[in-house]
Amino acid sequence: MKVFSRIFILSAAMTSAAAVSAQQDFSNVQIVPHSLGDGLYFLEGQGGNIGVSVGDDGVFLIDDQFAPLTEKIIAAVASLSDQPIRFLLNTHYHGDHVGGNQNLGQAGVVIISNENVRTRLQAGFTNGDLQRALTSEQKAGLPVITYADSIDLHLNGHDIHAFHVAPAHTDGDSFVVFRDANLIHTGDVFRTTGYPRADGNANGSFYGIMAGYEILLDISDENTRFLPGHGVVSDRNEVASQLQMFTTIRDRVKAGVDAGMTLEQIQASKPTAEYDAQWSAGVATAGDDLVAVIYGELRSM
Ligand SMILES: [Zn+2]
Repeated sequence: MKVFSRIFILSAAMTSAAAVSAQQDFSNVQIVPHSLGDGLYFLEGQGGNIGVSVGDDGVFLIDDQFAPLTEKIIAAVASLSDQPIRFLLNTHYHGDHVGGNQNLGQAGVVIISNENVRTRLQAGFTNGDLQRALTSEQKAGLPVITYADSIDLHLNGHDIHAFHVAPAHTDGDSFVVFRDANLIHTGDVFRTTGYPRADGNANGSFYGIMAGYEILLDISDENTRFLPGHGVVSDRNEVASQLQMFTTIRDRVKAGVDAGMTLEQIQASKPTAEYDAQWSAGVATAGDDLVAVIYGELRSM
């Protein structure tokens, strides 16, 4: 029973992501490149920030937003380099980060990800029925090189280290580290646009996100730049201050749980009160939703 409901939830999530992308009008979206130095850029458009490395070895992309934007993304890359796009790494399986996979895969780009990303994309294509054959278009969108823990690429003068983070935003998250450039693409584990989001359909975890922030602090210094899945390029202070906020909220929720309060009582005590104006991202219930996630995880420990 558990397995079936899980598959149903997953396929529902994939279907709604596809539906959103099909209904959304992308005609006015512009893909804007921003330089990060050393042949590194990020592309801003609609969906997750795209990391780009250009140079003599060819173009390496991190994430690819939505399918209707692929042509514009290719054009933006062409304005930065006359070399072909050779490799694409997916930081996780969400539609606003992998939407261009089929287009780019069909164009011959080699797609790389943590193994859970491939598994979830495959399950989405088949509605969880792994016996169902994929179309060639669908197959082209799947990562062809997967890793459990980490992978290293040596391209355009960069040593690039991508590694899997234990379940955080999803169970397939990776951080991508450009060591010499002191730059980290964090996927959606670290964002600057709203409260942390643990995807319950993909084993996401608030505690896992906190652990991910600890890792970011451990592997960085005061000069490290963090390119978030959504939001602006940030420094270590931003990571540390968000982690401080998570800890404060977590401690308040935990105190309520320890005192025997119900979820509704804890939500009514407004553990996120002073943060909501900045971090709710226009969603009135965002603070309460975060409290519910933390409460659920605390109760299951
Ligand atoms: Zn995401």
